[in-house]
Amino acid sequence: MIRLGLVGIGKIARDQHIPAIAADRRFTLVATASRHAQLDDVPGHADITAMIAGGHDLTAVSLCTPPSGRHAIARAAIEAGLHIMLEKPPAATATEITDLENLARARGVTLFATWHSREAAGVAAAREWLVGRTIHAARILWKEDIRRWHPGQEWILAAGGFGVFDPGINALSIATAILPETLLLDAAQIDIPEGREAPIAATLKMRSGAAPVIAELDFLQTGAQSWDIEVDTDAGTLRLSMGGSVLEVPGAKPQTGADREYPRLYTRFAELIAAGKSDVDIRPLQLVADAFLVAERRTVAPFSY
Ligand code: NAP
Repeated sequence: MIRLGLVGIGKIARDQHIPAIAADRRFTLVATASRHAQLDDVPGHADITAMIAGGHDLTAVSLCTPPSGRHAIARAAIEAGLHIMLEKPPAATATEITDLENLARARGVTLFATWHSREAAGVAAAREWLVGRTIHAARILWKEDIRRWHPGQEWILAAGGFGVFDPGINALSIATAILPETLLLDAAQIDIPEGREAPIAATLKMRSGAAPVIAELDFLQTGAQSWDIEVDTDAGTLRLSMGGSVLEVPGAKPQTGADREYPRLYTRFAELIAAGKSDVDIRPLQLVADAFLVAERRTVAPFSY
């Protein structure tokens, strides 16, 4: 039994982590740490230090706070000898996550930097279908309504909040998993609302081998939402839609499956702990960092919730 502490009781903790933990017999949720929020039936603390000192005989922690500030929390957990699972994006900077990886290795604990979208129903089959095919081009359209999915989350448009890259990094996590050749960024444009620090829209021009890969990310999409990736190949076009949960390939009916993203993440975490291993892939985070390095920036209209 893995005695788990959950840190940062907000939207994703309540929507996904708590139900997934409750349904997994390998885990028991024994404590939480959150500055304001608490669960009715689980002992709560204001921060990780108090939770570690709380006498819960913790085995592991799962972090659901925003990326900025996560390094210090994760470091405290690793130094206490706890296995650790991180929401995406795994840290505020590429160096922070590398540092955590080194600390976890030195301390002999598991570090799992999760990418939940890679667990969507169509992603593994998409990767398999693309093996051995010649890729001509790919397009990513990741357009959602910030007011609907991130209501009142001021942190997301602050420095270190990732802005539209908070959802957009999910698309990059799928693209880096399914495209056989390294995804390289050539150019980017990012739009930052006047008075904010993080982008509300971005366009990335990338390539995978010789194939151009264009990503359009938008946080102001009302009406139908788009979480789509299309890959043109010598055998026709592969289409992953609904965030990777629906796969369409030439000559076959659309394939889909139940949403098991978070149950799969906790299964993988339990397996990594049992095997004494870590899983840290920073490629999606590196692409976001690259975009901030090379992007042309535009100031656009102010945004308020
Ligand atoms: P959220 O609703 O704002 O929840 C995060 C919680 O972390 C807050 O409620 C807050 O609780 C705590 N926290 C600790 N330090 C904080 C700080 N400096 N600023 C703000 N909150 C802080 O955010 P979320 O949507 O759950 O997102 C959290 C992480 O999950 C992000 O990395 C995001 O990318 C990822 N994620 C989100 C979704 C989604 O649909 N929203 C989906 C997948 C992954 P206290 O005030 O009690 O400390």
